[in-house]
Amino acid sequence: MLRAARTNFWTLGLRAATKGVVFDLGGVVIPSPTPVIKDFEKKIKLKKNTIVKCLIKNGDNSAFSAFERGELLPKEFEVAFGKELSEFTGKKVDVSGFVEFLESKISEPIPDAMEAIQTLKKLDYKIGILTNNWKNENGESFMMKDELFDVVVESAKLGTRKPNKDIYEKIIEEMRIAPEELVFLDDIGKNLKAAKKLGIQTIKVETGKPQKAIHALAEIIGKELVDWPSTTTPLRPGLELDEQKLRKFLKEKLNLEADELILRQFDHGQSNPTYYIKYAGEELVLRKKPPGKLLKGAHAVEREFQVMNALGKAGVPVPKMRCLVEDESILGTAFYIMDFARGRLFKDAGLSGVPKEERKDCYKAVIEALAAVHNVDPIQNGLQGYGKEKGYLSRQVKTWTKQYRSAETEKIESMENLAEWLGENVPRQQLPLSVVHGDFRMDNCIFHPTENRVVGVLDWELSTLGDPLADLAYMCMQHHLPSTGNGLSGVADLDLEEEMIPTVDEIVDFYKEVRGLKVDFDLDYYLAFCFFRLAAICQGVYKRALQGNASNKELGLTFGPFVHLLSGMGTHFMERSTENKKKIQQELRRSNERFITSPDELRPFAKRVYNDVREFVYEEILPKEHELGSQEFDDKLRWTQPAIMEELKAKAKTAGLWNLFIPFNIDEEMKYGKGLTNLEYAFMAEEMGRTLFGSEPFNCSPPDTGNMEVLIKYGEDEHKEKWLEPLLNGEIRSCFGMTEPAVASSDATNIESSIVKDGDEYILNGRKWWTTMAMHPHCKVCIFMGKTDFNAKRHVQQSMILVPMDSPGLTIVRPLTTYGHYDAPGGHAELDFNNVRVPASNLLVGEGAGFMIAQGRLGPGRIHHCMRLIGHCERSIDLMKERLRNRIAFGKPLAEQGVWKERVGMSRVQTDQARLMTLLAAHKMDTIGAKVAAKEIAMIKVIAPQVAQTVIDHAIQAHGAAGMNHDLPFSGMMTWARALRLADGPDEVHLQAISKLEMKK
Ligand SMILES: Cc1cc2nc3c(=O)[nH]c(=O)nc-3n(C[C@H](O)[C@H](O)[C@H](O)COP(=O)(O)OP(=O)(O)OC[C@H]3O[C@@H](n4cnc5c(N)ncnc54)[C@H](O)[C@@H]3O)c2cc1C
Repeated sequence: MLRAARTNFWTLGLRAATKGVVFDLGGVVIPSPTPVIKDFEKKIKLKKNTIVKCLIKNGDNSAFSAFERGELLPKEFEVAFGKELSEFTGKKVDVSGFVEFLESKISEPIPDAMEAIQTLKKLDYKIGILTNNWKNENGESFMMKDELFDVVVESAKLGTRKPNKDIYEKIIEEMRIAPEELVFLDDIGKNLKAAKKLGIQTIKVETGKPQKAIHALAEIIGKELVDWPSTTTPLRPGLELDEQKLRKFLKEKLNLEADELILRQFDHGQSNPTYYIKYAGEELVLRKKPPGKLLKGAHAVEREFQVMNALGKAGVPVPKMRCLVEDESILGTAFYIMDFARGRLFKDAGLSGVPKEERKDCYKAVIEALAAVHNVDPIQNGLQGYGKEKGYLSRQVKTWTKQYRSAETEKIESMENLAEWLGENVPRQQLPLSVVHGDFRMDNCIFHPTENRVVGVLDWELSTLGDPLADLAYMCMQHHLPSTGNGLSGVADLDLEEEMIPTVDEIVDFYKEVRGLKVDFDLDYYLAFCFFRLAAICQGVYKRALQGNASNKELGLTFGPFVHLLSGMGTHFMERSTENKKKIQQELRRSNERFITSPDELRPFAKRVYNDVREFVYEEILPKEHELGSQEFDDKLRWTQPAIMEELKAKAKTAGLWNLFIPFNIDEEMKYGKGLTNLEYAFMAEEMGRTLFGSEPFNCSPPDTGNMEVLIKYGEDEHKEKWLEPLLNGEIRSCFGMTEPAVASSDATNIESSIVKDGDEYILNGRKWWTTMAMHPHCKVCIFMGKTDFNAKRHVQQSMILVPMDSPGLTIVRPLTTYGHYDAPGGHAELDFNNVRVPASNLLVGEGAGFMIAQGRLGPGRIHHCMRLIGHCERSIDLMKERLRNRIAFGKPLAEQGVWKERVGMSRVQTDQARLMTLLAAHKMDTIGAKVAAKEIAMIKVIAPQVAQTVIDHAIQAHGAAGMNHDLPFSGMMTWARALRLADGPDEVHLQAISKLEMKK
């Protein structure tokens, strides 16, 4: 492009070569005063644009013009300008402090402009400044002192201002360059117009886009202006690199060789020195450990290389990694080299340098980059072992509490409360494990030079594996910090709507949208944690300053009050989180009181989850049903977990449709489940029951559901950590071993397996069968029921104990089939326990509690089966209706044959009847508990499988022979419906119990 531009100039021969460049100051070399004026307007409660309108109206006669001509000093100007505005608005306006406010906001030069000026100087261009400025109280003008400028023409000194012709003539004269050999950059159209009239080439600088203007200037002069990033400095003493060794290395390793080597150091205060290298046409960044003795584990550049390399390969915007060098003989310490990501860096979260209408896009770009990081499965992408896979948040809370304690200087109540609350309320990680950046914010993202997209996420020093929500909360923290904050700049004091900056809710929604998340999460916990962490960091800085160890003692001492402020913020989120939880609990208790019979009556949250489940079943699971069902016919694949099932699980988990079955009444703190009632879940389970493969993707499938409930209710912390957590995460599967071939297991008191104590262990002996899921490759634990005391009372002889599936002496004898189905990959196995030893601590509750646990376990399990059976019925009815409408026999559709009208009618009657009874049982379980609702549970356990058998049988019949084949779901469903007349207790046993209760009446 540059070449093309240059060719045009030469070939057309219309323009003289440029010799000098004149810059306006405000809005070109330093920030523009216009947004500052608007801020001031707001500060003194003036209507938007009042000042500009007043200036336009009074033109050269305004106090501002006089101020710029140097006729008024700041105080005089403020009096005159206040008067002018009062007249203009018709009410008293006081602008005292305006000049100080303005100067404080615009004195820092724009780095890109400065870099371009430096390059122009090196290229022998003459540099001029042409500015409308003012004088301060001492009579000196407001002007940047810089020896880079050859000529400075100021309105305040000259007594005339742009766009008056004489001021341009003055600069032309002082520059001693012909107008057509000059380029003038200004952000105001009429100033440019006046210059153009005299033959000067002009470039308009758009607000917040100095890069664009510099690019235009580069095109005019035909040379790159930005040689190195403005954020670099010459190498700092003590951090120099051996240039010879570096050149040798670059040649040998990267095949680069050249005369000129540009080597600079990035100026922002990273703990690992970072260098910019321009060599042989390549722009590189070298990052190394600092010299000297280092703390163990700190400055791990190897880790940074590993994570960026892996993420880059997985498509995350990070600079391309070139090489990692651990050989310290080359540059003194380990280092790595990556590509330099050229682009824009926004230091402030308020994006003051970006036009307002582009700010949302910038935020979106940052969130997209964050989502890209979090979407990478670290284990699948070579980052196994990059961090611990479990317990991220609890570890973080412990670490920062410890850190805080080591720097504590006084008892701060809010810090005490936070530390305790954070430790006690650690939420279970809801989203899949990801790389956590650890310091993710706007100013760690490099934006494309002209487009609003992130081209590189930097600073991975604190990254590890963990809970991605920690990053999201950290990013949202800035919304609760002031824009004037040290280090972390925020937007809390800005009018977000006016500034066109997204709110926290918009950020979270966008994150969810980009990641396809439907999950609701309590970001307040994470925010409370982030503030606690920041407070702990500040406490550390403060303590070091008190001890005299801080690099900047005075600054360090100012951090003390921050600890109070930040822990106060943390407390706010802690209270909000607690309050929200209470509200949800109250809502759930209220909703428990209502018996509803249709999903339309669900409370909004439950309705949303229900709709999401339904959509997931239809859109994600049903299309894969046949493929999932076919695997058991493949001898090689039969006992393997289908990859698509794992994909479905990951999707459902990410969507927040996970562990829905855990009822609120056993999980009031909503530690494990979603806070749904059994009744609410019944509607969802019905949707899952539309296919035999419908519950596993949501981690709601038996026997894990029952086993998880057992562990929630009866497990010790150790059991929970070892077995419940991986079950809740869907990482392992489990089985339940009660039934024995040798005895009538309908009566659990008959079982004969033994559990005998031997020191710290129990020895298990016995034979079990119909142990569902034991064949599954992920099945890792069995809840084994046996007798610890054959002589005790009938119902206290039994105990339950957790048995790892890989225990020596435990053998899978064979898989059993149900009507010829293997129900693979979980199957139903016959198991032999031959002197299996397990730690005594694996016993649940205590000796003799087995029967009680079994009763507790079977209640929810039974009802879940029934809920799904209703789903089998509805699916069968749907398919049956379709078939009946379309199949023509004896001259008319089957639907018109009388017998089918009756079968369809009865199917509807029976299904609705069974559903209503199931819902009632669920409601009773919610309100009076499974024990008291035993009759209702027994009744549905009898009726639902029978209804399902009838309805499915009609559907088979309607499909003719096709109905028997596994192309259609009926044979599998029918098998289950039949099996459920035995599994979890045969019909007769339930009827016996119902009849016993009935007879008592
Ligand atoms: C598909 C499937 C999955 C299973 N999964 C598991 C599992 O994961 N874990 C597990 O431990 N077990 C499981 N079982 C076993 C199931 O729980 C038992 O089969 C059931 O409890 C019956 O025990 P049984 O087979 O020993 O039959 P028995 O106790 O021998 O009973 C046989 C029959 O006797 C009749 N009968 C029994 N009691 C009475 C009575 N009081 N009045 C009148 N007639 C009566 C019934 O008709 C009954 O079917 C599963 C079974 C199936 C089919």
